Amino acid sequence: MHKKLKKPPFLIPDWKVSELVGAAVTTRENGFSMNEFANFNLATHAGVDLCVLEKNRIEIKSWFDSGLQWQWLNQVHGNNAVRVSEASKSIIADAAVTDQRGLVCCVLTADCLPVFFAAKDGSEVGLAHAGWRGLSAGILEATLLKFNAARENIQVWIGPGIGQCHFEVGSDVRDSFLQGQSINQIEKLDSSFQRIANAPQKFLCNLRSLAAHTLNRLGVTEVSGGDFCTYCDEDRFYSYRRDSQCGRMLSMIYKKNL
Ligand SMILES: [Zn+2]
Repeated sequence: MHKKLKKPPFLIPDWKVSELVGAAVTTRENGFSMNEFANFNLATHAGVDLCVLEKNRIEIKSWFDSGLQWQWLNQVHGNNAVRVSEASKSIIADAAVTDQRGLVCCVLTADCLPVFFAAKDGSEVGLAHAGWRGLSAGILEATLLKFNAARENIQVWIGPGIGQCHFEVGSDVRDSFLQGQSINQIEKLDSSFQRIANAPQKFLCNLRSLAAHTLNRLGVTEVSGGDFCTYCDEDRFYSYRRDSQCGRMLSMIYKKNL
């Protein structure tokens, strides 16, 4: 018999979204995983005890409507977004969009940004896994292309990811965003890369502002969130950059079965 946690093991996005939409992102604080995966890992990885993972999955599901179907993705840091109408086996993609009630779009992260999308009327929802590779490859553009709603009727919340305070990158990452852009765009994009004193080819990269900039350019103006740094907040979040071997938080969004 599953012994339920006393406290919800997740955060609720603080965006003003339609009440038809449910969304959450898990924290690592409570759960059943041990050692480097402690405590609430939701990803399959080498070294993960699958029985414990199943307990964690049962736990998270127990906090939501039992009629929900869960769509998992096999994430590859690419730019493939899918529109789903029923849950199937894990799909190779980094974003999913749906207009079906009770179908949960799931993304797993530990530093990359989970980017939550919802039509303002609650008719469609989506979720993208966006690290620097995905952002640079166009995963947010690809996600928006799967929506029927007009861009001005879509709102976005950015979940916990690595903050600029801790995301040191080389010039290759900066170049991947700047190459081929107009002078005007280069100036805007470059403001997300802070130079590090005495380290000429090193930058502190702001994934949140890169995502917001991209969304704004594509016509999505209502963008909130991005306030958590996974590296800074070791108690609540996994961070791949900090710990290398670690678990993953689950981000989820769905249309409620009302
Ligand atoms: Zn930080």
